[in-house]
Amino acid sequence: MKITRRDFVKTGAIAGSGLLLNQISPSNIFPRSELSNSPIVVSTWSPNLKSNARAMEVLLQGKNSLDAVEEGIKVTEADPNDSSVGYGGLPDADGKVTLDASIMDWKGNAGSVAFIEDIMHPISVARLVMEKTKHVMLAGDGAKKFALQNGFKEENLLSENAKNAWLKWKESQVKKDNHDTIGMLAIDKMNNLSGGVSTSGLAFKLHGRVGDSPIIGAALFADNEIGGAVSTGNGEYVMRTVGSFLVVEKMREGLSPQKACEFAINRLYKSLKDFSDINISYLAISKSGDVGAYSLKGGFTYCFTTPNENKAITSDYLMK
Ligand code: ASP
Repeated sequence: MKITRRDFVKTGAIAGSGLLLNQISPSNIFPRSELSNSPIVVSTWSPNLKSNARAMEVLLQGKNSLDAVEEGIKVTEADPNDSSVGYGGLPDADGKVTLDASIMDWKGNAGSVAFIEDIMHPISVARLVMEKTKHVMLAGDGAKKFALQNGFKEENLLSENAKNAWLKWKESQVKKDNHDTIGMLAIDKMNNLSGGVSTSGLAFKLHGRVGDSPIIGAALFADNEIGGAVSTGNGEYVMRTVGSFLVVEKMREGLSPQKACEFAINRLYKSLKDFSDINISYLAISKSGDVGAYSLKGGFTYCFTTPNENKAITSDYLMK
């Protein structure tokens, strides 16, 4: 797999935090039953340990999993060094930073925004769509107008670094592999599950392109009876196979989160003709706190957080 600048950022963040990326199989992860209703947070990509830490802080204050997911994801959205989410996210082919986000609570409520510009925290706008409107999704100018009407500030999200990367890309038109969406799932002390996803999408995508992240059932699905799943990677493939919904439905049929993620990746693998420049990963949690993750190719990491630990884990993958 091609090593990207983003991969170096990840490696640096891991080294900086002194955390070791172990290959831990989900069966080695402490089952939640043994933690007696203590909260859990999982999220895609190891640099998001800081976001998980924030989400856990919120859960330990006794707040619910929806608050935790929103607050956790906001940390990544505000991070200028994260080139795939929120402020500092790499722009599209026209040099515009356009963002997608979605959120789901334990009651089956859902909200999302797609192709929104100039708003630092799309995850919070998605929550507002869910809580204040009759709709599930708002897109583009309408989503921005709704955000501004509800007190969000208009901000330039194109950082100097992202702008320079775009100028370089325009000169060379070199295809850049960049997909590091944050997808987070949290279970609170009341045993309620929520999930959220936020991204700037694929770097240098066509202006107007919307990925899997704001599509309920594609990049995010949470069912309080069963568990939840999130995805990261080339969203087109996740959308075509309604990936996160598929993972949760396989868990409903009795598969563990690990086996359910493997099922969804295998389903997708069979439909692929060209494997170059593609990676797709799923992360899932059951209501009993079992965690599973699986990727098409290597390199996917995720964060696992309980009140006692906050660690990054390397996922297993199919194409070895
Ligand atoms: N899934 C995202 C998208 O296709 C990309 C990513 O995971 O970073 O927009």
